[in-house]
Amino acid sequence: MSEFDLIRQYFTRPTKHTPLGIGDDAALIAIKPGMELAISADMLVAGTHFFADAEPYSIGWKSLAVNLSDMAAMGAEAKWATLAIAIPTNNAAWLSQFSAGFFACASQFNVDLIGGDTTRGPLTISVQIMGEVPNGQALKRSGAIIGDEVWVSGRLGAAALALAQLQDQLTLPTDVSDQCLAALHTPQPRVALGIALRGLANSAIDISDGLAADLGHILAASKVGAELQLSAIPYLAVSSIVDGLNDKRLVKAVLAGGDDYELCFTAPAAHHAEIMLLSKKLGLALSVVGKITAGSQLIVRGLDHEILDFKETGFDHFN
Ligand code: ADP
Ligand code: MG
Repeated sequence: MSEFDLIRQYFTRPTKHTPLGIGDDAALIAIKPGMELAISADMLVAGTHFFADAEPYSIGWKSLAVNLSDMAAMGAEAKWATLAIAIPTNNAAWLSQFSAGFFACASQFNVDLIGGDTTRGPLTISVQIMGEVPNGQALKRSGAIIGDEVWVSGRLGAAALALAQLQDQLTLPTDVSDQCLAALHTPQPRVALGIALRGLANSAIDISDGLAADLGHILAASKVGAELQLSAIPYLAVSSIVDGLNDKRLVKAVLAGGDDYELCFTAPAAHHAEIMLLSKKLGLALSVVGKITAGSQLIVRGLDHEILDFKETGFDHFN
């Protein structure tokens, strides 16, 4: 199969909102007046970001989903993506599953694949995503204000628990394990939430490296501190294997676990009720986990209101 046939078979699908898609030297997109273009890229490398033998369907889904998560964190509506892929061999079964996962995610979130590049090499997938956000309304990391409530969507730590299980560090009960593996392999980017937070949130980020590290980016960009309550952070009930938040493995997954792709955002307390309504409307848990403070420190209070020592808990790499 020629490279051209491969592109046509696996990566060319009808576009919904693109004047010129795959097939020419460049694609053409049309930005609506009054909109800014949000652009971001994320690369997934076999062995680093996923196991080389992972299900190709979930590699396809996740390669787009992690990019959609960045659009969500900006409050942008994702519309277009490009895909640059290096593949070691022309494996039809692998390509067709990868493509199915990628396009399942693309059609769920209304994204057109408009171009890319295909080459032979160690398995690497690089997706660039573009979306629209009304002028001046993007949710930046730099907008947090002292007194803001700190919110997170969904529940944290599930992907990290799945990874710990895949690395034989713990064993999860079957039902919990299924949920955790789904969180790791087919994350659900919070696109509708990001768009709805325009005008409500002062700052936002998506949680890809763990709550502590990612909230840390908001604090640095906004020149503020924060105080979090461990007991307020929502997590999957895994009490049958670990002793809730008394177990350091769970605390670590919740605070420092990567790959959650939930949103962390800050908003004035005056918007609290409206954000709770939004939670109901979206059918998505939204929880206040702490407050923005003066200074530059991130303090996490443990179950006895003590200040957690990140070094002692063994995840000081984000400090
Ligand atoms: P060129 O030599 O001009 O770079 P290519 O032969 O690499 O063109 O690509 C032909 C067309 O297919 C281009 O429109 C390009 O954007 C698109 N394309 C190539 N690889 C991919 C891919 N993996 N996914 C989507 N589109 C692709
Ligand atoms: Mg090319």
